Amino acid sequence: MPTKPLRVLVLGGTGEARCLAERLVADERISVITSLAGVTREPRSFAGALRTGGFGGAKGLQTFVVDERIDLLIDAAHPFAAQISANAAKASRGSGIQCLRLERPPWELQEGDRLTNVPDVQAAADAIPRGARAFVTVGRQDVAAFLVREDISVVARMIEPPDVAVPDHAEIILARPPFALADEKALMETKGISVLVAKNSGGTATEAKIVAARELSLQVIMVVRPEKPPVPTAADVDEMVDLIEGELG
Ligand code: NAP
Repeated sequence: MPTKPLRVLVLGGTGEARCLAERLVADERISVITSLAGVTREPRSFAGALRTGGFGGAKGLQTFVVDERIDLLIDAAHPFAAQISANAAKASRGSGIQCLRLERPPWELQEGDRLTNVPDVQAAADAIPRGARAFVTVGRQDVAAFLVREDISVVARMIEPPDVAVPDHAEIILARPPFALADEKALMETKGISVLVAKNSGGTATEAKIVAARELSLQVIMVVRPEKPPVPTAADVDEMVDLIEGELG
């Protein structure tokens, strides 16, 4: 008689979550549900089942994993999505269902970098020198703190338009990663950028802007990652698939 498939809930919001779902769906011993917050209005397609929207805090997530008879919870949220990771760790403790995290390593400082690390997005906005032309790549949910600075000019890139009004001293570029190094350099040069603002997201899809800023000797203001609760963590999809296969025995 066939054994029951391992039921996996993947907390998504990253390219890695999409890749992981695709890999797991191909394994008939595993059944996958991916969960998205619903902040991106037109997300890319996903392999396996998809659910969208908040759970209603850690308790709501715990209820969901128990009701859906989830065997394994995978936190593959963005490194800066601290709340859902905290909720996942709590729901795991409350339900006894194991939580694993898929999180790419941060970018490391390299020779030639003109880097200022800051603890959060507001500190990044405060750190931009007066008169600067800033290339802001923190995402639409966090762009407001930069748009209110009237003593700088802003080029802000994001996947979908912001919910806040865009003042005259700011320009919005809508684009989805990955980005190529030559394009990033050309963009920074043609827009006359003097400062790059980025979250330390890590990974290859958006790394070219960091390399471009290094090669153009631009100042980089980097928001460091928030702390997340300690759970067993894989640095990439291959490593996570190995961990999950370990669960299958
Ligand atoms: P967050 O602050 O950690 O989470 C806020 C709330 O959104 C959570 O409490 C939860 O609501 C809901 N939520 C978040 N991720 C969810 C998921 N995968 N499935 C269902 N509900 C989820 O997250 P955020 O920073 O707003 O990011 C939202 C989404 O965008 C995440 O999926 C994240 O991976 C992705 N993302 C974030 C960033 C970033 O820089 N923050 C960048 C790229 C992508 P309830 O408490 O009601 O369950």
